[in-house]
Amino acid sequence: MKEGLFELGAKGAIELDESDPLKKFRLEFLFPNPKNGKSVLYFVGNSLGLQPKKARAYVEEVLSDWETLAVQGHTSAKYPWYPYHEFLTESTARLVGAKPIEVVVMNTLTVNLHLMLTSFYRPTKKKFKIVIESGAFPSDQYAVASHAKLHGFDPKTAILEWRPRTDERILNLEDLEELIQSEGDSIALILLGNVNYLTGQAFPLKEIATLAHTKEIVFGVDLAHGAGNLELHLHDDGVDFAVWCSYKYLNAGPGALGGCFIHEKHAEDFSRPRLEGWWGHDKKDRFLMEPVFRPMAGAEGWQLSNPPILPMATLRASMEIFDAAGMHSLRKKSVLLTQYFEILLKAAEFKKVKIITPPKAEDRGCSLSLDFGSSAKTIMTKLSEEGVFCDYREPGILRFAPVPLYNKFQDVFELCEILKKHVE
Ligand SMILES: *Cc1c(COP(=O)(O)O)cnc(C)c1O
Repeated sequence: MKEGLFELGAKGAIELDESDPLKKFRLEFLFPNPKNGKSVLYFVGNSLGLQPKKARAYVEEVLSDWETLAVQGHTSAKYPWYPYHEFLTESTARLVGAKPIEVVVMNTLTVNLHLMLTSFYRPTKKKFKIVIESGAFPSDQYAVASHAKLHGFDPKTAILEWRPRTDERILNLEDLEELIQSEGDSIALILLGNVNYLTGQAFPLKEIATLAHTKEIVFGVDLAHGAGNLELHLHDDGVDFAVWCSYKYLNAGPGALGGCFIHEKHAEDFSRPRLEGWWGHDKKDRFLMEPVFRPMAGAEGWQLSNPPILPMATLRASMEIFDAAGMHSLRKKSVLLTQYFEILLKAAEFKKVKIITPPKAEDRGCSLSLDFGSSAKTIMTKLSEEGVFCDYREPGILRFAPVPLYNKFQDVFELCEILKKHVE
C-alpha cells in the first residue's frame, strides 16, 4: 500500500533507509544492550540522547592530560582548559543560528534561566507580568515564579498563561497576540518552551519576537526540546535570550552542560544588572584579580566559574557530529521520519489513540506525543518488554522521538508493528 510519499510495508522502510544520506551517522553512536536478542528501538533521544562513540576518547584525553600535565593542562594540553569552552563556540552558534559572540556553554539549563531572568526580567510597578505557555515545563514555572517573588510580586497576578481553547491542547498564536494586545503594557517578559515538552508543539519564534517587541516585551526561550531538534535562527528571529540543555537531543550525557544565547543587541549593554563571577570578567585581565568586575561583551560575560572540562569533552564529541551532519540536513530527514511515523500510525487506525502533536512540520519537532488514555502505562510496559524505549508523561501520554542522527525508518516501522500487536 502507498500513502503519499511512502510505501507502507517493510520494504518501504528498507528503501527509505537505503536512500537516507545521513544513515552513516547512526554508526557514531552506542546503543543500549539488546533485548531478547534484538537491538532496541530507542525513541527517547528527547530525554537522554545516546552516547557518541568518540565521547569516551575525548574524556580520556582530559583525564590523561590531567594525569601527565596536571596544572599545566590549563595552558599546555592539546585542547587547553582555559579556553576549552571556546572550542564549542562556533559549532554551538551554527546549531542555534547565532553569532559566536551570542552563545556560551555553561552551567545547566535552569541555572542559566535564573541568570537570564536576573538580567532580563526588570519589572516596574506597571510593567511586571510574565507570560508562559500553559503546561510549561515545571522548572520554567518555578523559575519565573521565584523571580516574581524576588521582586515582591505575587506569582498569582504576575504570571499569565497563554492557554489553549476549551477542550484543546494546542496553543493558537492568535490567542497570544490577543493577550499581548490587551495586557502588553503590563507584560515585562515572555518565556516559552520551544518545543513544548509535553505536546511537542513548536512556536514561531520570529513572529512572537516581533509581537513582543512591539510592546517592549523581552522574549526568552527554553530550548530544551529545540536545540538539536529544530533548525533555529535565534539571531535573525530577534529572540532576546535562550537557554538549553545538552543531554537530550545534543547527546552529551546525563546532566551535561547547558547552553545560553544572548542576542547581539544586548552584548555591550553593561547597564543591565547580572550575577557576576570571575569567569565573566574580561579575559584579557582576568588574572590581574582586580576587585571591580568588568564583563566581557556578549554571552561569555555571563559566565560565573571556570568551566568543568570533563563534561565539555563529551559535548565536543557530540557537536562534531552535528557539524558533520549539519542541522539543515538533519531537520530535512527529521521532517520525513516523523511524517512517516504519523502516516503509519494513521494507517493502523487505532481507535483509542490520539496524536496530540500538531500535524504540520513547522509546528513541531521530531517527536510525537500520543494520548493512550488509561491504557498508557500498560502499553508502556508491553513496549518496554519488546525493547522499545519511549517515555510516559502524565496524563496518559507516551512520547516517541525518532531522531534523525541515529533512528532509522525501519525503527519506526518496527515500532508501529509492535504497537499494532498491543493496542486494543
Ligand atoms: C528537560 C527540561 C529542562 C531541564 O532543566 P535542567 O535544568 O537541565 O534540569 C528544563 N526545561 C525544559 C522545557 C525541559 O524539557
